[in-house]
Amino acid sequence: MESRLLGHPCFNKDVIYKIGRIHLPVAKSCNIKCNYCDRNISCLNDHHPGACSKVLTPQEALLRYKDITSKDQTIKIVGISGPGDPLFNQETFETFELIRNYDEQAEFCISTNGLLLEDLVEVLLNYNVKYVTVTVNAVDSNIAQNIYEFAMYNELIYFGKEAAELIVHKQQYGIHRASEFGLVVKVNTVLIPGINSHHIEKIAARVKELGAKVMNIMPLMPYAKFSDIEKPSCSVLAQAREKCSKIIQLVTHCRQCRSDEAGLLV
Ligand code: SF4
Ligand code: SF4
Repeated sequence: MESRLLGHPCFNKDVIYKIGRIHLPVAKSCNIKCNYCDRNISCLNDHHPGACSKVLTPQEALLRYKDITSKDQTIKIVGISGPGDPLFNQETFETFELIRNYDEQAEFCISTNGLLLEDLVEVLLNYNVKYVTVTVNAVDSNIAQNIYEFAMYNELIYFGKEAAELIVHKQQYGIHRASEFGLVVKVNTVLIPGINSHHIEKIAARVKELGAKVMNIMPLMPYAKFSDIEKPSCSVLAQAREKCSKIIQLVTHCRQCRSDEAGLLV
């Protein structure tokens, strides 16, 4: 196991009993639309990636951080993963600043769709972010165009193939640049039967080539436009993981957390 992976429970299963994480849901807006995303489903009882009971202001996030870390000494990682895209929201950086001023030991991570990653690598480094997760569901725009509805970039909005090309291109440049600058990159891939299920090994090979250290293949949770697609079975997921494990190191203990979870991953 590479030493840089050691300190983050989502990158390294060996530390899930020792190191906890807190997600602070300060990133309200998103700059793309994934066909499986329904950000209206955000309540206390719902358990799907990105859900949260309330979007916090950076000041509220700092209070939550102070409150939870005063009771839970395991928390070492501060993650921002939603409910929108962290890099698209200035509140992400304001939160990092506030927490860094309060606790200089805190380690930061973000989970992003990758559209702005290439542009913001230096900014992340300035905030001492160490870990980045990029959700990559395709490395080919012909496949990506069936997964994304639109993308907003530099005040322009792109649809269809153009959006897909932009997303695929920016994600790959972002992963490469972030890795080159020393960030530890994990790639999350949502396994979507009939859409990208035949393409998973290509994603694994490409992101490895670009510098990603680990990959996490997650089953589709059928929401929104993809609500009629059946969730992949355990055996389909296992087969995809088995094939990709020959290409890149996999993590298989992801809990598909809400964007306001805190504590150990167990
Ligand atoms: Fe939803 Fe995340 Fe996709 Fe944005 S990037 S549409 S928040 S799943
Ligand atoms: Fe870790 Fe996965 Fe939860 Fe993110 S969603 S905190 S990667 S376990």
